[in-house]
Amino acid sequence: MKYSGLKIFLEGLTGNKGWKPLWRNPEPKPKYDIIIIGGGGHGLATAYYLSNTFNIKNVAVIEKGWLGSGNIGRNTTIIRSNYLLPENEPFYEFSMKLWENLEKDFNYNAMVSQRGVMNIFHSDSQRDAFVRRGNAMIMSGADAVILDEKDLKKMTPFLDFDNARFPIKGALWQPRGGSVRHDAVAWGYAKGADAKGVDIIQNCEVTGFIIKNGRCLGVETNKGTIKSTKIASCVAGSSSKVMSKAGIKLPIESHVLQAFVSEGLKPVLPGVITFGAGHFYVSQSNKGGLVFGGDIDGYNSYAQRGNLPVVEDVCEGGMAIMPMIGRARLLRMWGGIMDMSMDGSPFIDKTDIKGLFFNGGWCYGGFKATPASGYCYAHLLATGKPHKTAESFLLKRFEKGLIIDEKGQGNQPNLH
Ligand SMILES: Cc1cc2nc3c(=O)[nH]c(=O)nc-3n(C[C@H](O)[C@H](O)[C@H](O)COP(=O)(O)OP(=O)(O)OC[C@H]3O[C@@H](n4cnc5c(N)ncnc54)[C@H](O)[C@@H]3O)c2cc1C
Repeated sequence: MKYSGLKIFLEGLTGNKGWKPLWRNPEPKPKYDIIIIGGGGHGLATAYYLSNTFNIKNVAVIEKGWLGSGNIGRNTTIIRSNYLLPENEPFYEFSMKLWENLEKDFNYNAMVSQRGVMNIFHSDSQRDAFVRRGNAMIMSGADAVILDEKDLKKMTPFLDFDNARFPIKGALWQPRGGSVRHDAVAWGYAKGADAKGVDIIQNCEVTGFIIKNGRCLGVETNKGTIKSTKIASCVAGSSSKVMSKAGIKLPIESHVLQAFVSEGLKPVLPGVITFGAGHFYVSQSNKGGLVFGGDIDGYNSYAQRGNLPVVEDVCEGGMAIMPMIGRARLLRMWGGIMDMSMDGSPFIDKTDIKGLFFNGGWCYGGFKATPASGYCYAHLLATGKPHKTAESFLLKRFEKGLIIDEKGQGNQPNLH
């Protein structure tokens, strides 16, 4: 089905009876060229680029629940490319460029809203670090502006500039950053992949792998055996559980990350704002709710709900920079399972088992990566070679000392 202004107009006149489901609900075929495990953002984007860009259409996406039941439907929707390290920045900027064309590309309104992302700094030394990051961004073709206190006061007069503990001195501002309606991204990619013949199979859980002589030949599922010579795992927070079924131990821990939404307020935030002295970030949805979050719960878990200490910690962060948030009522909150890697950076790579590929380790920054992750994974699956912006995301980088520690926190996953 093609969306257009004319179609909406005509449907409006004829009682909106002509809209069709966006994708089919097929039963699995016995064999595919490529099987993608996980119908989240990254799995569906991979299927979309395989079928639309690399012309490989005999593909199945196998999802244990329904589309959008994982982190793609649970995140706080922020997109940005404000990274420092040369292994990361070109990849996230590639993703930003794909976001900017996405809605035209897959003919679906994903509400890509480039209202900007503002990282607040609180000291001279933090400003220097942000200037360095801004320069790294500009060198990779991204946009970055340093705002001083005066500039910032004009844009966000409600911030607590004179807070005794965390005085606000300015911000690193990426005007092209912003937010995107998260589940519409899954639906748009699903629609585009399905239109090219990709089978999206929901309520189908992968329970094991068929491995013979070091080669993966298919998967076992609750709907039977499905064969393929290329199997691509893409299950985010469930990565360690799924890959353990192939005997692979990953440098990943799973933790819960919570998100919060307030009651609807009049438009107040110009874009995304992040606290520089603790973990708190906030944006305002199109419906007016303040959407915010902070740190992960500090223990390993596969639960999709978190605990109260983090709620308190996140709200303290909000109050420190934006006391008016204390007057807003919290409407709802939820959790998602994060695949936290040892250095905070992701993996898009082959494994030691022939035909078995792995995509994961996105920590709590994988939503913004969705288009580039899908594109680069599709590139690896189709050509056998990594895409140039994802060459460093290797599973074996720890063995070689090639860690990508964006935050400089060392090998402690819960700190990244
Ligand atoms: C509260 C929260 C806030 C976040 N905020 C941001 C943000 O603002 N910006 C940002 O960039 N990132 C953010 N993230 C991170 C981002 O959401 C994730 O990194 C990203 O969505 C992970 O990729 P995905 O979409 O493919 O994952 P998912 O949507 O989780 O997809 C994985 C899928 O695999 C399926 N699966 C698991 N096991 C199996 C199996 N055995 N068989 C078949 N299918 C299986 C799951 O059901 C799931 O649907 C946030 C995450 C959370 C939870």
